[in-house]
Amino acid sequence: MSAMTDFTQELERVAAVATKHAANVDEDARFPQETVDTFLQSGLGGLVSASEFGGKGGTLRDAATVIERLARECGSSAMILAMHYSGVFVIEQYGDEATRRDVANGKHLSTLAFSEAGSRSHFWAPLSTAKADNGHVTLDAKKSWITSANYATAYVWSSQPCAAEGMSTIWLVPREAEGLQSPGPFRGLGLRGNDSTPVSATGVKIPAGNRLGEDGQGFDVMMSNVLPNFSVLNAACSIGLMEAISQNASAHCAGTGYQHLDSKLADLPTIRAYLARMRGKTDMVRSLWLDTISALEAGREDAMLRVLEVKAFAGEESVEVGQLGMRVCGGAAYRKEVGVERRFRDAQAAIIMAPTTDVLYDFIGKAVTGMELFG
Ligand SMILES: Cc1cc2nc3c(=O)[nH]c(=O)nc-3n(C[C@H](O)[C@H](O)[C@H](O)COP(=O)(O)OP(=O)(O)OC[C@H]3O[C@@H](n4cnc5c(N)ncnc54)[C@H](O)[C@@H]3O)c2cc1C
Repeated sequence: MSAMTDFTQELERVAAVATKHAANVDEDARFPQETVDTFLQSGLGGLVSASEFGGKGGTLRDAATVIERLARECGSSAMILAMHYSGVFVIEQYGDEATRRDVANGKHLSTLAFSEAGSRSHFWAPLSTAKADNGHVTLDAKKSWITSANYATAYVWSSQPCAAEGMSTIWLVPREAEGLQSPGPFRGLGLRGNDSTPVSATGVKIPAGNRLGEDGQGFDVMMSNVLPNFSVLNAACSIGLMEAISQNASAHCAGTGYQHLDSKLADLPTIRAYLARMRGKTDMVRSLWLDTISALEAGREDAMLRVLEVKAFAGEESVEVGQLGMRVCGGAAYRKEVGVERRFRDAQAAIIMAPTTDVLYDFIGKAVTGMELFG
């Protein structure tokens, strides 16, 4: 039985809190603390943690279902929690028992700290350093974006290897470690509650045991663990956003009319055709997303191709659906009355979150022509 079967009620409780605060999280550009606290207290924070440590033993499909549902209500909350699960999948595979217990029991909010000022969206090529030093490791870095930068318990962090060959090594870096600095609050176009700020590390000392995986193995961790999980969860955000935009726009057009003509917006064939495109795009991407999850579960040969596709097309289509929603709802969308403009702004981030759509197009093109992705 899926862990989700037991969690529908908790999920709806978290969704209700997300709904209540979504508009002011966006307007005030503030972290959705109430939603994150409710999420962690509900047990959903430990959804994919092993049951032997108090978690629910859930799967990527379960986590993706949670994120898609929450994204319909609050894009910021959904992305924060998508980053949480993305980090947790790494911690589950490589982390120590105490951290895994904390995650399982809702005492740990995770996130990824991969993007850097020097290598930008090319997350696979960190320039930051890690120097081994008598049982400790000293980290120096300029991380350019970390979701929940000032709220996460610890960061799943990339650096160049200490000594081994390879492109990177992954670490668990406590947010309160001395030498970490984050500038002022996040001010973004969308996902305004995300606290996705830069973080610099100057001589940050962590125990050598905080390494996640082997020295130099970071690229493998990124490709085998982070990329599939993050892509599916990022797509879940995009799908939740476009689902809400499609539903809100359809309801608005069905319920809003021209009194002097005694007709509804939905009586216009042009409007109906746009609504049809929105619905079709949303359903097509949802099918691709579900097929991607099935491909990963079955270890299908096309699983990696699906992973590359799902983030790219979910991101692109959600922005297009948002654009259509802005058009069909007219002035009501330009203001905040139908809840389309916030989600339209939130949807933009997926295109530039690494791997960005354009990098994914390049990877997909390489995959279908038999080339090495990183050749
Ligand atoms: C809301 C939000 C939250 C984020 N949270 C996190 C987080 O928690 N952790 C984290 O590590 N990062 C995070 N990021 C960072 C994200 O993953 C990207 O690294 C970042 O958005 C890329 O921005 P950039 O300006 O550095 O991109 P640049 O690398 O400067 O890219 C600029 C443009 O060049 C294009 N481009 C680059 N290389 C190629 C190529 N080879 N082929 C074709 N086009 C290319 C890109 O697609 C893009 O359109 C977040 C970003 C956002 C917007």
